[in-house]
Amino acid sequence: MSLEIWQGDITSLKVDVIVNAANKELRGGGGVDGAIHRAAGPKLDPACRALGGCETGEAKITPGFDLPAKYVIHTVGPIYSGSHSDPLLLAACYRNSLRVAQENGLHSVAFSAISTGVYGYPLGAASKIAFTEVRKWLRDHKDYDLRVIMVAYDARTYALYQKLLG
Ligand code: ADP
Repeated sequence: MSLEIWQGDITSLKVDVIVNAANKELRGGGGVDGAIHRAAGPKLDPACRALGGCETGEAKITPGFDLPAKYVIHTVGPIYSGSHSDPLLLAACYRNSLRVAQENGLHSVAFSAISTGVYGYPLGAASKIAFTEVRKWLRDHKDYDLRVIMVAYDARTYALYQKLLG
């Protein structure tokens, strides 16, 4: 069981599963979602459509198709509004993604920084929630062998992740 950080393009990672910051329609979009759809190839879109959307805070899985990763977990982060439900929903994204990974017998998971792009979640607060929730999950599932990689795309996110990793 390990928690690591890494800076770069999540679509290049050869892990069991990468976690996409998707939208409720699961129809692809900009940011990391667009990058994942491009790298996975045209089969990802119909696979996502077949899932019938995804509620905020929930997570659903598809194959990775042309990606080096075997699977993609699509989770929908909250659109930041400053409401009390934002941190709860963001934490749920990390928790539910890890649950789906475990249910599918996956042992290496790479997370993108959910909600911190177009969805506008302040990076400092979002990163804290991400690390807290992942650490809590790892503590509560000590018997499950899991490698978690927190992926920072830019230098600012990476610097924050370094601090949080300690
Ligand atoms: P959201 O809509 O949930 O905010 P975004 O895709 O806009 O999702 O942004 C989420 C995070 O993903 C941002 O921190 C952004 O910098 C990062 N990101 C964008 N492209 C990539 C990529 N290819 N690999 C990893 N992270 C990425």
